[in-house]
Amino acid sequence: MKYILVSGGVISGIGKGVIASSLGMLLKACGLRVTSIKIDPYLNIDAGTFSPYEHGEVYVLDDGGEVDLDLGNYERFLDITLHRDNNITTGKIYQSVISKERKGDYLGKTVQVVPHITNAIQEWVERVALIPVDGDQASPEVCIIELGGTIGDIEGMPFVEAFRQFQFRVHRDNFCCVHVSLVPQPKSTGEQKTKPTQASIRELRGLGLSPDLIVARSHNPVVDSVKEKISMFCHVSAQQVICVHDCTSVYSVPPLLADQNIVHYLQQRLSLNFRHRPRRLLNSWKELAHRYNTTSKVITIALVGKYTKLEDAYISVMKSLLHAGLACKCKVSIKFIEADDLEQSTLEKEPVKFHEAWQQLCSSNGVLVPGGFGVRGTEGKVAAAKWARENKKPYLGVCLGLQVAVIEFARNVLGWKDAHSEEFDPNSTHKVIIEMPEHNTGQMGGTMRLGKRTTLFKADSSVLKSLYGGKESIEERHRHRYEVNPRYIEEFESQGMKFVGRSVDGERMEILELEGHPYFVAVQYHPEYISRPMKPSAPYLGLVLASINRLNTYIARGCRLSPRNSFSDTESSDTEEEMAALMSKSLSFTSQESSPQQL
Ligand code: GLN
Repeated sequence: MKYILVSGGVISGIGKGVIASSLGMLLKACGLRVTSIKIDPYLNIDAGTFSPYEHGEVYVLDDGGEVDLDLGNYERFLDITLHRDNNITTGKIYQSVISKERKGDYLGKTVQVVPHITNAIQEWVERVALIPVDGDQASPEVCIIELGGTIGDIEGMPFVEAFRQFQFRVHRDNFCCVHVSLVPQPKSTGEQKTKPTQASIRELRGLGLSPDLIVARSHNPVVDSVKEKISMFCHVSAQQVICVHDCTSVYSVPPLLADQNIVHYLQQRLSLNFRHRPRRLLNSWKELAHRYNTTSKVITIALVGKYTKLEDAYISVMKSLLHAGLACKCKVSIKFIEADDLEQSTLEKEPVKFHEAWQQLCSSNGVLVPGGFGVRGTEGKVAAAKWARENKKPYLGVCLGLQVAVIEFARNVLGWKDAHSEEFDPNSTHKVIIEMPEHNTGQMGGTMRLGKRTTLFKADSSVLKSLYGGKESIEERHRHRYEVNPRYIEEFESQGMKFVGRSVDGERMEILELEGHPYFVAVQYHPEYISRPMKPSAPYLGLVLASINRLNTYIARGCRLSPRNSFSDTESSDTEEEMAALMSKSLSFTSQESSPQQL
């Protein structure tokens, strides 16, 4: 096993996760089996109890693990399926050491950070690195380990010490260090500054780790003289300084790293046995980047949510829209609408806000109501679902987005005016959404209906069934405590709201579709967690296609885009290579710059 530790310096949030995933992607492109571990040095056991306001989205894995959103980067970049243990937190490490102590495993000994916590970290890493992530049962050969936070943080210290020891445990040939640092460019002088990087490398060395590669993150491309300065003051060769400036999209990062010979460096440094050259997979990423940069058709999707101030709260949803958009050669511009701005109470207090929110909603091509918790904003979401249903606007509801569509239909079509979810109004006489009792254990962490579950298509034909390639069953990831009340299904279906996908036992409603509407689809699961850049998620693809009026043609053609757009359906996009070939055939190579954005 080859280990690549990726640490960060100066400040967090400079794209360490994207760089680490890109490194992994490049090695995967050389035929190696790559896995990843994300370390979050906080005390929480997992991300399940986090507020999206503070930490962004809670990412959910197949096995039901509620983990840091960075694991989503790895799954998307490497097209792998990670395990809950691939996310290490200080809480998990301490929990495992303390439970061993209680069992008497350290009988007679004083249990200490060094060596007990640091040993537990090393053992965890060695164990988890071997878990297969590719669908076949083969163990990975390379493990990318991303250490969250920045070097010098108090809470990261036991991890840094663990890796200082680890480099000797696994030997130099099998371990290397990549340090991602910031090269700021203050406006006053316009000069790119290397001091913060120097200081952070000094700190890293002081803790016993030497960088093999320094990745300098900057706004503009790093000039050669600055690169030389980093090399000289940080005691590495120029070849070991990799520059990554702000790119138009994350898809440009792997090619940017490859252009600086990083693959060759890692091959030498870690004695890697490549199976092939990275060209083919890399080309497909270049095509993606190119498509992102040159696509000029823009559609707007209104995202009616609650955590809209923080884009990270909807990161997988946004990525899914991006993937679906790229497949259809259009750019999805997301309009974030605060759900409670659509409510009557806002009209009374802040009419301008209310009208602006409605203007945004009504002028968009499609509507998306994502998952969420808590009562605030639900009436606004219900109003958005009503508007989309009545005005035949494409609508995709995800989890809570399905539940509000059901509430709206019950109130306005079935005439049950006080219909609600038990989560928001336990006294309603029509609780159309009810709690799943087995998930109410009194504990908040890890007790929802979580992870991969099977949905069976009930009807012979349905829009989503076609979009999923005509499969009889699908597997998607879940995260919810409430469900559609099975008592009322007949009434809903008799009025045209069909529950076309259900759990294996038929009890849980998983997919609803509205008859006589161009695209009114809602799912109880979260399809965004398994969307991939070259394998867009079916419900999101449907929303984008319906929003550009191409859904019917797409379905009529057997779920294939026209050869000109060259994007095949999610089923037939078997390999990245095939997709690359398909995509490269169709793309017209015009260059058009879009404004740079942060990684
Ligand atoms: N709050 C709802 C539930 O627990 C929806 C959850 C979600 O959207 N993830 O069922």
